[in-house]
Amino acid sequence: MSIRENLLEVEEKIQKACERAGRDRSEVTLIAVSKTKPVSDIRQAMDCGIKVFGENKVQEIRDKTEEIKEPLDWHMIGHLQTNKVKYLPGKVCMIHSVDKMSLAEEIEKQAAKHDLVMDVLCEVNMAGEDSKFGLTPEEAPDFVRSIAAFPHVRVRGLMTIAPYTDDPETNREYFRKLREMKDMLSAENIPGTQIDTLSMGMTGDYEVAIEEGATFVRVGTGIFGERNYGIS
Ligand SMILES: *Cc1c(COP(=O)(O)O)cnc(C)c1O
Repeated sequence: MSIRENLLEVEEKIQKACERAGRDRSEVTLIAVSKTKPVSDIRQAMDCGIKVFGENKVQEIRDKTEEIKEPLDWHMIGHLQTNKVKYLPGKVCMIHSVDKMSLAEEIEKQAAKHDLVMDVLCEVNMAGEDSKFGLTPEEAPDFVRSIAAFPHVRVRGLMTIAPYTDDPETNREYFRKLREMKDMLSAENIPGTQIDTLSMGMTGDYEVAIEEGATFVRVGTGIFGERNYGIS
């Protein structure tokens, strides 16, 4: 299937999930996850009207934003090392993977240098998988509260990468619990935050994530096809 056909199918599934949940389509933004994929693939998605892209490596964001000058929204969705943060201000509109105080401090420092406020999400490892980064559900709320006062970091909400599964229903409880955490933090009206964002759901489970309140879904394989890690 072509990228165009894939996008039509994803869009239809997003719309149906919104309908089932009684949500407006405009509440959900599709992030096209273009990691490992060439610029020509990104251009095909752009030709279909996609303007929001996700990458998980700083170097790839640098290379691709060098080549593609059109105004797009780039999201850093992958694990981020402190020493790479300096390349991101001005390049990405949001960092989805903040899970350590040292990382938040470095984002504060680099955003201040660029005289801008960086929107961030805190990553929560909802299933407690050893293989994944992220805060535990227990520590996440206090972490959000503790970085809220950073003047150049604005917490917009929470992100999770749910377990890989053949049955998306098994991830529903993780999505629901993350939404509950987001709603709780949002209700606290913590100064310096604007908690309105929930980044959850990938190719295997984005419909369930939308039913449970996702505002960003991050879809890679479902748009661009299988990734070939052999070449990079
Ligand atoms: C790769 C990746 C995705 C997209 O995964 P697919 O299963 O291909 O849709 C989403 N989120 C993050 C953080 C990723 O690294």
